[in-house]
Amino acid sequence: MLDEHERTLAFAELALGQIRSLRQTAIPRNYEIWYVYATGYNSQLNQVINETLTRNGKLTEADLEQIYETYLSHLKTTDRIDKVGARVIGEIDDVVQLIGDALGMSAAFNASLSGATERLSKAVDRDQVMKVVDSLVKTTHEMRDTTKALEERLVLSKTEINNLQQSLEAIRAESLTDPLTGLGNRKYFDHSLETAVADAISTGEPLSLMMFDIDHFKSFNDSYGHLTGDQVLRLVGMSLKQSIKGQDITARYGGEEFAVVLPNTALRQALTVADHIRRAVMSKELKKKSTGEILGRVTISVGVSMLKPGDDMDSLIDRADACLYAAKRGGRNRVVCEADPEYVAETRGQVA
Ligand code: GH3
Ligand code: MG
Ligand code: MG
Repeated sequence: MLDEHERTLAFAELALGQIRSLRQTAIPRNYEIWYVYATGYNSQLNQVINETLTRNGKLTEADLEQIYETYLSHLKTTDRIDKVGARVIGEIDDVVQLIGDALGMSAAFNASLSGATERLSKAVDRDQVMKVVDSLVKTTHEMRDTTKALEERLVLSKTEINNLQQSLEAIRAESLTDPLTGLGNRKYFDHSLETAVADAISTGEPLSLMMFDIDHFKSFNDSYGHLTGDQVLRLVGMSLKQSIKGQDITARYGGEEFAVVLPNTALRQALTVADHIRRAVMSKELKKKSTGEILGRVTISVGVSMLKPGDDMDSLIDRADACLYAAKRGGRNRVVCEADPEYVAETRGQVA
C-alpha cells in the first residue's frame, strides 16, 4: 500500500505532467484543477475536462477559468450564479447585436436588388447590363459572407450557452449537496419530501420516511476528535448510499442525523430497508487511517413512519422523529416504526 505521502506525490506529479504536456501556465489555479483531476474525486470535473479535450484537443484560458469557477472555486454560490448570469446576458446581447447587423445587411441587400432591377430595365447596351450584373454578384458574395459569419458565430454562441447551462446545473447540484457526505442536504430533503408527499397523495401509492441518528456520537467525538467524527459521518453516508437504490432519496438531515424518503414503499418494506442500513453501519469496524488505531463501531437508531390520510410533510416527519426517540429510549441500535408498541407507549397521552 502506498502511504499518504507517496499517494499525494503521485497526484502532484500527474498534475504537473498535464500542465507540462498541455503547455499551460503552472499557476496554482491550474495546478489545483489538475491535482483534483488526478485524484478523480470530482467526477464532474473530470468529465468536463475529458469532453473538452476530446472536442477541442486543448483547454483554453477561458475553459480553465470556467472549470475552476464551476467546480473548484470557493466563491459563494450566489456570487457564482451572478457571474454566470452576467455571462448569459452578455452572450444574449452579442447575439441580439449580431442579428440586428444581419437584418441591416439584408435590408441593404434588398435595396440593392431593387436598384439593380431598375437599372436593368433602363440598360441600353451590353456594357450597362454587365455592370449591373457585376454589382449584383459582388453584393451577393458580401451577403453570403455575412450569413456565413453569422452562422459561425451562432454555433459558437450555442456552445457557450451549453457551457453556461452546465455551470448553472453544477452550481444548483452543489447547492443541494452536503459537502461532507456527498448526500443531499436539508434543503434537498425538504424539497424532495414535499414532492414525494404530493405525488403519493395524488397517486395513492404508499410512502415511507426513515430518520436515523448516530448513537452516543457526542462521546465518540469527545474520545477521538471532531475530524475523526467527520470521517465516521462520511462512512455512515457511504453505508447509506450502498443500501439504498433507485428512487429512494437520501439526505443528511442535520449534524449526525440522516433521512431516507422511500416512495412506493409501505411500512413493512421500509422496516426491512431500515434494518439493513442499521446492520450495515454496525458491521463496519472503524479504523483511524493515519494511525491504524481501531475505534470500534458506531450504531444508529432509526424511526420509520408511513404517510396516512390527512398527513402532510411535517406530520410525517414528526412521527418518524417520535419513533426515533422511542428507539433511543428503548436502548438504541434499533428500528422503531409507528406500528410498534414502543411508539404507541411513547405517544400515549399525546394522541387524542
Ligand atoms: P444519542 O445516542 O442520544 O443520539 O447521543 P448523541 O451523543 O449522539 O446525541 P447528541 O444529540 O447529544 O449529540 C450529537 C453530537 O453529534 C453532537 C456533536 O458532537 C456531534 N455532531 C453533530 N454534527 C457533527 C458534525 O458535523 N461532525 C462531527 N464530527 N460531529 C457532529
Ligand atoms: Mg442527534
Ligand atoms: Mg446521536
